[in-house]
Amino acid sequence: MPFLTASQAAEVRERFGTPCYVYDRAALERTARRLLALKAPYGFTLRYAMKANPSREILVLFRDLGLHVDASSDWEVARARRAGFAPARIQLGAQMPSTRLAEHIRDGVLLNACSLHQLEAIGRAAPGHSIAVRMNPGLGSGSTKRTNTGGPSASFGIWHEYLDDVKSLAARHRLTLRTLHTHIGSGTDPDVWQRVTRMTLDLAEQLPDVAVVNLGGGFKVGRMPEEPTADLDDVAAHVRRELDAFRARHGRSLHLEIEPGTYLVAQAGAVVATCIDVVDTGKDGYLFAKLDTGMTEVTRPSLYGAQHPIDVMATGREAAEVVFVGPCCESGDILTPAPGDPEGLGPRWVSRPRVGDLVIVGGAGAYCAAMSTINYNSYPQAPEVMLDPDGTLRLVRRRQSLDQMLENELGPS
Ligand SMILES: *Cc1c(COP(=O)(O)O)cnc(C)c1O
Repeated sequence: MPFLTASQAAEVRERFGTPCYVYDRAALERTARRLLALKAPYGFTLRYAMKANPSREILVLFRDLGLHVDASSDWEVARARRAGFAPARIQLGAQMPSTRLAEHIRDGVLLNACSLHQLEAIGRAAPGHSIAVRMNPGLGSGSTKRTNTGGPSASFGIWHEYLDDVKSLAARHRLTLRTLHTHIGSGTDPDVWQRVTRMTLDLAEQLPDVAVVNLGGGFKVGRMPEEPTADLDDVAAHVRRELDAFRARHGRSLHLEIEPGTYLVAQAGAVVATCIDVVDTGKDGYLFAKLDTGMTEVTRPSLYGAQHPIDVMATGREAAEVVFVGPCCESGDILTPAPGDPEGLGPRWVSRPRVGDLVIVGGAGAYCAAMSTINYNSYPQAPEVMLDPDGTLRLVRRRQSLDQMLENELGPS
């Protein structure tokens, strides 16, 4: 495993039980510093898309390193503020129209209009305000349809052909469109990045007040050794050239923003689990290892057919081809689906597991704790632990108790 030794994993189980999320503080800090060092010719802002992992520990670490935040809901804005982010460092871009526009405007939270309806609502609430607008440039990327957030099959942002409506709504409410935002999904294809940068700048050309372009997140991280990882230096070098060319053509210097989620946190998280049963379905069937973790902590495989590395902490065993499944009474609770196909099975060659083995699911820093199906089968929400750079394991969120799971229920006793 990249960051947990066998003895650290054993310590996690002994002190906090399994399943348990563990985050690697040194890796979080290293990745954030690397991205902060990216160069843009006319200024650069790094926003953390906090929906990837809104743990307070991670938010506070990134706040102290100087990152800004991309919030996907009013709730995330509130969470970022509780973690101490200044309102001016938070940009809200949501699917759900904000119900707290007046408050955000008063406090200086930045607003990103993600539909014409939202643009109109912001214009009514804050005439004369300076805002961001999210456009769908007409092209997407991403490994599956479900992680693709641009192009005609994505509902996110304002379709690029409606730019005239954007302009007339903005003019009617005297809004200044200061930031142009696009976010097209989790891809690695440099060609797609180049085309989207170009399309975004073509839109910027038509919006004379735009001083900031935000190219979103979606920088792919290969969690499995065979999967590619986006080369950010390459992306940045290309974007620099485009921004220089834009300035040469139009005399405007554009400040660059990016807002990765995955890239900042994915590899810095793991789930420590226990093998709770081993069963098979005969000689033409499969060998299954059941873990005490599954869709309740790592939902991405059942949702997208996403691949996470799985290590059985055992040495000197024969190898076996194993399908890993979770503990829910639910046939979709599979940790090793076929790649990109949540309905298929993708057995892995690993040390043949036995009941009681420690098992580590890697690549679990992004969209795992944040996107879990907690409390299905009434399993409690798993705890979170920080591995500090000195090797200390520190509990940062307790395991949920039965009382907490039930505390909002009313009715017969
Ligand atoms: C989810 C999201 C991101 C982050 O995407 P990653 O694939 O995690 O990098 C960035 N911007 C917006 C608007 C998002 O919705």
